Amino acid sequence: MPDLRSIPAVGRLLEEDTAKTLVGQYGRDLVVKAIRETIYRIRSGQGSGQTTNAETILHDVEIHLESWFTPTLRPVINATGVVIHTNLGRAPLSKSALQAAAVAGGEYTTLEFNLDNGKRGSRSVHAEEQLKRLLGVDAALVVNNNAAAVLLCLSALARRRKVVISRTQLVEIGGGFRVPEVMSQSGAILYEIGTTNRVHIADYKKALVEKPALIMRAHHSNYRIIGFTSEPALSDIVSTAHSQDIPVLDDLGSGALLDTSRYGLLHEPTVQESLEAGVDVVCFSGDKLLGGPQAGIIVGRKELLDKVKKHPLARAVRADKLCLAALSATLDHYLKGEAEDQVPVWQMIAKDEAGLKTTVEHWKLALGAGEVQPGRSAIGGGSLPEETLPTWVLQLTVENPDRFLSKLRRNSPPVIARIENETVILDARTIFPEQEEPLLAAIARVLH
Ligand SMILES: *Cc1c(COP(=O)(O)O)cnc(C)c1O
Repeated sequence: MPDLRSIPAVGRLLEEDTAKTLVGQYGRDLVVKAIRETIYRIRSGQGSGQTTNAETILHDVEIHLESWFTPTLRPVINATGVVIHTNLGRAPLSKSALQAAAVAGGEYTTLEFNLDNGKRGSRSVHAEEQLKRLLGVDAALVVNNNAAAVLLCLSALARRRKVVISRTQLVEIGGGFRVPEVMSQSGAILYEIGTTNRVHIADYKKALVEKPALIMRAHHSNYRIIGFTSEPALSDIVSTAHSQDIPVLDDLGSGALLDTSRYGLLHEPTVQESLEAGVDVVCFSGDKLLGGPQAGIIVGRKELLDKVKKHPLARAVRADKLCLAALSATLDHYLKGEAEDQVPVWQMIAKDEAGLKTTVEHWKLALGAGEVQPGRSAIGGGSLPEETLPTWVLQLTVENPDRFLSKLRRNSPPVIARIENETVILDARTIFPEQEEPLLAAIARVLH
């Protein structure tokens, strides 16, 4: 226990050269605050050192101040192989999406300004023009995320009215999004049909006598029902609904615009297919398989979208300018047919096995450690459950895999890996070329 009476006074500490440097860096008020906290910790027995000399105390003060300015939102190296890793921020943006967001953030923009007449414009023209062109719809709206998109559509189109949905689709996405709860939050009245494993077109037909406002379809996203199951084709649900002039809302979740089966994965339903099936309003995420910024995208029939746009909630969940700029740039990649080359999520899905193997062989050579092994990468983001892509990984057999992972996490930048069969696995699929050097440096540091 240090001698508490020997702790220098705050004013005395501030006269030290180290303290003066800190004041120059952080300002006097903050340094005083950090000194007080450090002294308080020493007095209450939580100090790091046994001594109470000025230099030791000021060293602790400096550590305090540094930690206050270390961002909590930091870039990490994703060596898990999970392409759309929700906990790691889902989709990384393309270079031009990033550039567009930087410009929109750093300068004045035409966010709500019409250059032709010098009057107020609408923010809804931006990404929405591209969505119309790309998907052939006559209206689109971008909101903060897909959860908001679904909530908004239900609030605007079905408040106090029934919405028919199959029990096979009452999914919980994670992060608190449960389809039945979002439906009731919107004020819509849930009208469940079918059973957990099966629903038939006859169930939909029977529900029409309830005069529902909408028939809703929710994509299963993160789970699959196998065995004795059935769900009618979306086009059959649509023609049943339309026979009574009832619109269909499709919550598609992952929002793929490209066909995942081209990469040896199961086919994830696409936005285009929902529209071809005749769905009136489709909602999907911007940062899942679309590979853009966090956004909820609503496309479909103009008369319905007009109601959605006019609802008071639309203002509360509107997309910001950074999102609109990045989304616009992401959609351009699809319009130009270059998504697979430019959108990181698709670049990673499209990586070929031979290239992945070469990368991992290079890692092994550089490190002089580990084994080059075949593995499986998951897509993540609540899409394609149980589906994986063949990949190549570096397998490290270490004494304590948990501790190894924890040391990798404490690296700067942190490296996130996983454990399989008591070994550390580093998947090349989700590593950007420019991350290889820091990744190898991190592994080498932890190994030695
Ligand atoms: C992911 C998902 C959502 C939520 O989308 P966010 O963009 O994360 O808000 C809603 N519905 C389905 C079917 C989903 O897969």
